[in-house]
Amino acid sequence: MTKKWWQDEVIYQIYPKSFRDSNGDGIGDIRGITEKLDYLKDLGVTMLWICPVYQSPMDDNGYDVSDYMALAPEFGDMDDLDELIREADKRDIKIMMDLVINHSSDEHEWFQKALEDPESRYHDYYIFKEGTKRPNNWRSIFGGSVWEKVPGRDEYYYHTFGKKQPDLNWENEELRKVLFDMVNWWLDRGIAGFRIDAISFIKKDLTWADREPDGADGLAKCAKATRNMPGIGEFLTELKEETFARHKCVTVAEAAGVPYEKMEEFIGENGYFDMIFDFRYADLDIASGSEWFKRLPWTVKMMGAMYFFLRGVPFIYQGQELGMVNFERTSMDQFNDLSSIDQYQRSLEEGLTEEEALRIVNLRSRDNARTPFPWNAEKYGGFTEGTPWLDMTEEYPKINAEEQKGKTGSIYEFYKEMIAFRQHGPYSRTLIEGNIEPVGSGDDVIAYRRFTEEESIYCLFNFSGEERTETLPNTGMVPIWGNLEETDMDGKTIKLQPYQAVLIKENE
Ligand code: CA
Repeated sequence: MTKKWWQDEVIYQIYPKSFRDSNGDGIGDIRGITEKLDYLKDLGVTMLWICPVYQSPMDDNGYDVSDYMALAPEFGDMDDLDELIREADKRDIKIMMDLVINHSSDEHEWFQKALEDPESRYHDYYIFKEGTKRPNNWRSIFGGSVWEKVPGRDEYYYHTFGKKQPDLNWENEELRKVLFDMVNWWLDRGIAGFRIDAISFIKKDLTWADREPDGADGLAKCAKATRNMPGIGEFLTELKEETFARHKCVTVAEAAGVPYEKMEEFIGENGYFDMIFDFRYADLDIASGSEWFKRLPWTVKMMGAMYFFLRGVPFIYQGQELGMVNFERTSMDQFNDLSSIDQYQRSLEEGLTEEEALRIVNLRSRDNARTPFPWNAEKYGGFTEGTPWLDMTEEYPKINAEEQKGKTGSIYEFYKEMIAFRQHGPYSRTLIEGNIEPVGSGDDVIAYRRFTEEESIYCLFNFSGEERTETLPNTGMVPIWGNLEETDMDGKTIKLQPYQAVLIKENE
């Protein structure tokens, strides 16, 4: 594959509502991001992916857009965004926006017009079915039926996610054209590209037939009939040709469930997108062969290195560079996440006690990743001068940016050094562009090789709390990078300390 410009990027994901509040209303905003650009430059990231800041009733934290070409006032206005793009550019940092075009908010003007008048052109921008009962038994991703009744009419509308997120009808050519115009309008503003939300859901099974129920609610997961369905390729090709292909931009698709044999179609030389997220890693923390909520005690630095040196553009989520931790909420009132609230209800329906349901929601809630960013040990971590919209983690007086910056051995300095090593070190070409293959190793060790025709780097990661000895692939190997000071090797073996990450290569 020919090298693409975006392969040299290290991308940092910002959840704007929780990053930095510039005006004391408790909600992070665009000017807050601009304030912190020097921090991001120091860390070494080259592109920011900003979660949705579009106008929205925020029923699903901005993944419910009510106007694609306006910003939510709590985040700022277009001038603020232009300023961010300009100031970021001065620091060689690019801006990637989120794109949510599988569905809109029910408060979008199109949907409101569709509800008011079934004869309106906007009615066909969405998926409506006439009738007095639900058209089928599909379950939405956030729980409950995918169908919601239209008040005052014998009609239902379809939603893959929340009921305030009606799906857009991609079968309608006029709608597609309107969406493409909007995408081009954004790219013309100077953004570097898009992370594209839930895009594998845009093609539905048009028979709308019932599926075999798979839960106590008598419903069936809608993903079986709405994700990566035959015909989706035509929509994705058109989207690319009408928009992305006309700009120098980068696209990352959230496309869960794409099988490996389809990767070429999605992200090959002529794929629909440049990259996709591989969700197979998302459940890596669940111990295999045990109850799903049993967690593995892995530590941040080793995990961070294991994924960072894989082939592909690394993404860092805000706070990851500080080793931010989950929270423990004691009551459901403390949750904001729509999906957590639905999961809690479903867990109760499945027969769990309130205590069990709360514990499970605590472990996997998206709110864990949405707690405000801790900049320092002051009140509310320097995130806001007001009251934060969501409680901080209890650990912020210990785990914060000011505490870690410049401190030897901190997770922040570890990330900074690791980014610099990948981007600007003597082995950058191999680590960025090189091929990858797995290397045989003991059960608790993950090992892979990054290589070009000239160079071979072995990356080893001990996932256990005990020493592990591995046979070296060749004699004369030397360590070139690691998370510990010492690397214990003789001519034939390497003794890995608990949670050690190390990169080694042949001595020249
Ligand atoms: Ca604010």
